[in-house]
Amino acid sequence: MAEFEPRRAFEHIDKLAYEIGPRLAGTTGAKQAADYIQKQLESYGYKPVVQEFGFVPRVVKTQIRAISLIAAFVVSLFLPALVSLAVFLLAILIGYALPYAVPKRLGKNIIATATSKEPKMHLLVGAHYDSARCAVRPRLSKFVKLTFLPVTLAFAVLLLLRLAGVPSLAWLIVWVCLAPFFLAVCAGMLISASGKRVSPGANDNASGVALMLEVARVAAAGPSEIGLTFVAFDAEEQGLVGSREFVKKQKFDPEKFAMLNLDTLGAGRQAYVIEGNGLIQKHKTTQIINEALARCCERAGLKPKLWWAALAGHDHISFLRAKLPATTLTMDAPSKDDFSVALAKKIGLPNARTRGYRNLHTMDDIPDKVELANIERAGHVVLEFIKSSFLCPASP
Ligand SMILES: [Zn+2]
Repeated sequence: MAEFEPRRAFEHIDKLAYEIGPRLAGTTGAKQAADYIQKQLESYGYKPVVQEFGFVPRVVKTQIRAISLIAAFVVSLFLPALVSLAVFLLAILIGYALPYAVPKRLGKNIIATATSKEPKMHLLVGAHYDSARCAVRPRLSKFVKLTFLPVTLAFAVLLLLRLAGVPSLAWLIVWVCLAPFFLAVCAGMLISASGKRVSPGANDNASGVALMLEVARVAAAGPSEIGLTFVAFDAEEQGLVGSREFVKKQKFDPEKFAMLNLDTLGAGRQAYVIEGNGLIQKHKTTQIINEALARCCERAGLKPKLWWAALAGHDHISFLRAKLPATTLTMDAPSKDDFSVALAKKIGLPNARTRGYRNLHTMDDIPDKVELANIERAGHVVLEFIKSSFLCPASP
């Protein structure tokens, strides 16, 4: 194998986050990034394949859902019980009809595979290259994420009560009590979706893509005992769209497959293996990969920790949904939010934490905030993982 050169990875970060800058999926920035990644992979000797797909931007989905829910809530005062329930269900399900009703944007996954004769194992290393819209008010976004499901369920219960014949006055009192919370959450959704600025995404996730490219360059130079695929995913920030489209089209044997996702690796010295995601609907990552990855972190001189990402999504989730083993490696700085951590422990998520890196999804997520030493550390972990006994049982 060739030597891993962190400086080369850093050049990719500069190119993606500084020269190209914001890379919102479906825009010119994302297209330029896709072209750059494709050219880099070609220069290492790969024959990358571009997988195109259409998607509805997340802000459009959020705006339409919020307006539909507000409308359903208001008209429930005037319409008969059964019709109100039907309108509510329509507002909830409207997201599924959007791809047929509104113009779609174009997304692109860049896929490069190193061929190996009858590999015993296949490793997919992935990282998303699109960047996110800046959160207008990060606390408001968090509030909406935490309260959307409870208030929507409360509204559903209210409609069912009416259907069950609860007296009109009692029903009206509950409606009036729920109204401020329900309308505040819907208004919060609209405000959160109103931001125009897009983050340059140096740490999230030019750092992951840069590392993936440098590992791909190193791996291309030597024979590999395992099958290796590198994928730069688009539209992760739109709801894991690129990875979802990828797993729809690909077939892997779950017994001989592992997916390692690289996300936000440049700021913070602490290595984390994502234990799982979600607060209500939970997605647990594959323990056997997590253990192997933790051993690789230790071999690279790091002391890894597990992290339950309660409010964040990662591209590995698309693979878990397709019953394929997968996990995410990330790095972060210490967090000062002890309250959320204590709260998460109380509800049975001992490894939940809030992010220490404060510039995520902001205009300050720039290459200056990324440290070369962190890219180097993470690079050693990924290279250790590629040659680990987990993937190559014959190797020492
Ligand atoms: Zn990310």
